[in-house]
Amino acid sequence: MKLLIKNGTVIDPKNKINSKKDVLIVNGKIEKIANKITTEKDTEVIDANGLIVAPGFIDMHVHLREPGREDKETIATATRSAARGGLTTIVGMPNTTPNADDQTVIGYVVSMAAKEGIVNVYPVGSLTKKSEGKELAQIGDLKRAGAIAVSDDGRGVQSAALMKKAMEYLKKFDLPIISHSEDEHFGEDWAMHEGIVSTKLGLAGKPPAAEDVIIARDIVLSQATGYPIHFTHINSIGSVEMIRDAKKRGIKVTCDTCPHYFTLTDEAVIGYNPMAKMNPPLRPKEHLDEIKKGLKDGTIDAISTDHAPHLLVEKYYEFDDCENGIVGFETSIALTMTHLVHKKIISTEQMVMLMSTNPADILKLKNKGHLSVGADADITIIDSDKEEVIDKALFESKGKNTPFDGWALKGIPVYTIVCGKVVMKDRKIVV
Ligand SMILES: [Zn+2]
Ligand SMILES: [Zn+2]
Repeated sequence: MKLLIKNGTVIDPKNKINSKKDVLIVNGKIEKIANKITTEKDTEVIDANGLIVAPGFIDMHVHLREPGREDKETIATATRSAARGGLTTIVGMPNTTPNADDQTVIGYVVSMAAKEGIVNVYPVGSLTKKSEGKELAQIGDLKRAGAIAVSDDGRGVQSAALMKKAMEYLKKFDLPIISHSEDEHFGEDWAMHEGIVSTKLGLAGKPPAAEDVIIARDIVLSQATGYPIHFTHINSIGSVEMIRDAKKRGIKVTCDTCPHYFTLTDEAVIGYNPMAKMNPPLRPKEHLDEIKKGLKDGTIDAISTDHAPHLLVEKYYEFDDCENGIVGFETSIALTMTHLVHKKIISTEQMVMLMSTNPADILKLKNKGHLSVGADADITIIDSDKEEVIDKALFESKGKNTPFDGWALKGIPVYTIVCGKVVMKDRKIVV
């Protein structure tokens, strides 16, 4: 099977490529990249003139919902949604039902992904049993079953002593820790960011300190143990400042943020809009400014979506009780293009680093995140000039819970190629 992508602007930061090239794919692997590759008769050709050709985009924080909540999403629908969004790899968090704290759940996700997935799926195992933060899970078993990282996402690890023990124990397995950084002692009754808007709306708020104190703690623990830590969905000034400083001091920390944290402020909650309810909560503009600064200067390594499909009925309970989170796959590239690249906050090359190169490195996916000869032929092709008004009715995800419905965006993924196979063309699934 041969596929030739001609005349595209190839952007591969790892190989320092940012120019017009042809890319030849043979049997699911990158065979050759050159200024001009001539077509052989059995080769499928894509004309990518005027388009960006990048190593496949990786979403390192998603909720698959299967097993347990297949009414919200399945591995099949999640991967179709990811493909429509231009993503070639998604990384599933362990808070399924049952929780992915043992090898059977990890094994189930791996086998369902192989059977029904149209993009690559990697599972994350729980750091602690049932993600309860009391006792470490059987991490060796999780790794053997296919987990590529560990996390208690949805919960923060409350005990510093347990987190330190985890970092020391994990040296044996070399698995990344993905930290949902939240001190739960700030209360569980919060509905949004604590500030002027929460006061006006009469809603209980949660301050950024709930995130910041855990980031501070885990920087200390990472320095003490020498073990790296990845902070996910960061969205406060304090987090960015502390991570920037820790990196300067040589501490092995990395982090990601999500498109909603650089496009929406806490004012989106006004009117008790359930599509603006998430954890961590949306914050005021000064936090968004610092997030953008962190994306620009490289403090923030990755953009994930925290794709969290819910039934609409669960989003329309009373605001205090409605579910946290939004779907993200089908809007993440367009939001990043529109609100960061076209506004010249980051370059297109930086976007590729944030959404492909760096997530692959953090998760140690050696054959992904670059287009070296022999690497997996996962490719995202983007039309930076194409405009689209987001229509949630067209989402492949079962989840329609998005605050971005009706938004006019510019910079749209037009092809998703997974292991040399075209799975999405012009926003339509073609497998
Ligand atoms: Zn989380
Ligand atoms: Zn999450």
